[in-house]
Amino acid sequence: MLSGATGAGSGRRRCNATDQTGSLAPVPRLSEVIAALETLWPAERAESWDAVGTVAGDPDQEVTRVLFAVDPVQEIIDEAVKLGADLLVTHHPLYLRGTTTVAATHFKGRVVHTLIKNDIALHVAHTNADTADPGVSDALAGALDLRVTGPLVPDPTDPEGRRGLGRLCALDHPVTVREFAARAAERLPATAQGIRVAGDPEALVRTVAVSGGSGDSLFDHVRAAGVDAFLTADLRHHPVSEARANSPLALLDAAHWATEWPWCELAASQLDEISDRHGWDLRVHVSKTVTDPWTAHAASPPSDPLGAPN
Ligand SMILES: [Zn+2]
Repeated sequence: MLSGATGAGSGRRRCNATDQTGSLAPVPRLSEVIAALETLWPAERAESWDAVGTVAGDPDQEVTRVLFAVDPVQEIIDEAVKLGADLLVTHHPLYLRGTTTVAATHFKGRVVHTLIKNDIALHVAHTNADTADPGVSDALAGALDLRVTGPLVPDPTDPEGRRGLGRLCALDHPVTVREFAARAAERLPATAQGIRVAGDPEALVRTVAVSGGSGDSLFDHVRAAGVDAFLTADLRHHPVSEARANSPLALLDAAHWATEWPWCELAASQLDEISDRHGWDLRVHVSKTVTDPWTAHAASPPSDPLGAPN
């Protein structure tokens, strides 16, 4: 479990410095590693508005260390430099809407400068990782010990019906909303926000929909699925208020970053497996730096015995 979740990425992967015959394991080129990542999250499966793929990097450069993180922010780039990473893979794009400048006077331009000066490539897997099988919401469900039964919004191009947005899940042992919220607070990386809940805390949860990242556009699908609870991030007043008025659905709102971070571990293990298959000399790391932008939380004082606000 990640308590505090700060600091440099853990080098939990082994290095294939030599194979069983004692000869040196090959160091892959960036183009080979990117080709491997493309098999996991093909760019053409991203939403049309998205900006995925390789943002920086020379296809011929060698890659011996890869760092996975949610956000391509300066703090993460600095961590990649310190780690000696040759490739940073992030979930969020650096430039979603394009740009006309990479001058280092802007924080995104500073990121580009730091990457290039340190020979670090940047690759993004965003909505193509959301809908992948396994994808971002599978990792979220896994972190919460939920059994995935299918996608919340199936991808019509997948004949097997496994890819898609969000996941529908079952709990082998039903718990109350209060207990489920406590589980989410404990299992997801710690953030200032923690978990917000809307609904009866004593209601039983047998089925759950989860969606890593902003999920309040998915309420219609969640209602149609008839689940007991929905766990996602970035829930807003009006959609929550309307969802509560429409059904007894319990809502759990976690920090956006916390709902997507479990994917970094999943993605790292997927690349590690590919690397083993190729016999590459490649180390894969996951950043534990909290890049959720919210940094503090002040709880309201308890309400008076009649339940009225102070
Ligand atoms: Zn996101």
